[in-house]
Amino acid sequence: MTPETCLKSACTGVHVSIQGGISTAFDRGTALGCRTIQIFSHSSRTWAGPEISDSEIDRFRSMHRSMGIGPILVHASYLINAATSDPEKRKKSGKALLEDWILSNRLGVSGLVLHPGSAAGQSVDSAISLAAEMIREVLDWPVKGETRLLLENTAGGGKTLGRSPEELEALFSAIGHPSRIGLCLDSCHLFAAGFDVSGESGYEKTLREFCRVAPQKKVTAWHLNDALFEVGSGRDRHTHIGTGRIGLWFFWKLLKDPRFEGCPMILETPKTDGDREDRLNLETLSILGRQSVFDAGEPALRATLSALAGGR
Ligand SMILES: [Zn+2]
Ligand SMILES: [Zn+2]
Repeated sequence: MTPETCLKSACTGVHVSIQGGISTAFDRGTALGCRTIQIFSHSSRTWAGPEISDSEIDRFRSMHRSMGIGPILVHASYLINAATSDPEKRKKSGKALLEDWILSNRLGVSGLVLHPGSAAGQSVDSAISLAAEMIREVLDWPVKGETRLLLENTAGGGKTLGRSPEELEALFSAIGHPSRIGLCLDSCHLFAAGFDVSGESGYEKTLREFCRVAPQKKVTAWHLNDALFEVGSGRDRHTHIGTGRIGLWFFWKLLKDPRFEGCPMILETPKTDGDREDRLNLETLSILGRQSVFDAGEPALRATLSALAGGR
């Protein structure tokens, strides 16, 4: 499936494991019926990843062409903090980000998703300049490819950057490179950061603001997660679609929103039972995508939600 196919129907998918090699992600994604996938380049909790040979890159690219998956995202390591002022941590973060950036371009993926960083121990303004400086250096690196670096909005806990349109706007304008950067919105993070998108007025106001600050006024990718805690909690705890505080309406509305047509929409919901929960969450999205009028009481939808709630 090409990215164009995603324009005709919701481009939904899942963050899948690469255990056994980076190209194994395609088998996992296609088994679930994903139209898009997100992967880590290596364990997100370790600094160094394995060397990936040119033949492995060729295998990945040829499977991408043949396996019916549209846009692919790589999520950068959680260890990277582009905003840190500690020289040792800056060196490690810069190196890890550059490695993920070079690899993402070699793989030919659409986006590398990055949390903008944490301002611990410094003002937000100086943290934004430090983050922008590191990201700019990476984007200046002479590497061939079409990947965009996507900044992800954050849940607002601690001193993480990127919780509001204002912080993201400041980051984007300090980074420059408008054709190589983009915005990835995570619905759980939006809600946790205080944006109540669960009803019409909050939805419109919030998304208008975030679209306004995004490079080229466009959201490049979505992470679809319901939120376990209340609006403004600052807590980054994802839960299954329709079982959290955001609720089904938001996801129905988003799937119908022409501003996000063709946009990769990745589930990062909990996995405690193989791929069973991923299948049920994808089914929820698929049922909502077919509803021209929102109907939370549709029997198929109730059955999917109760299977998720009941654990069987
Ligand atoms: Zn993330
Ligand atoms: Zn996310």
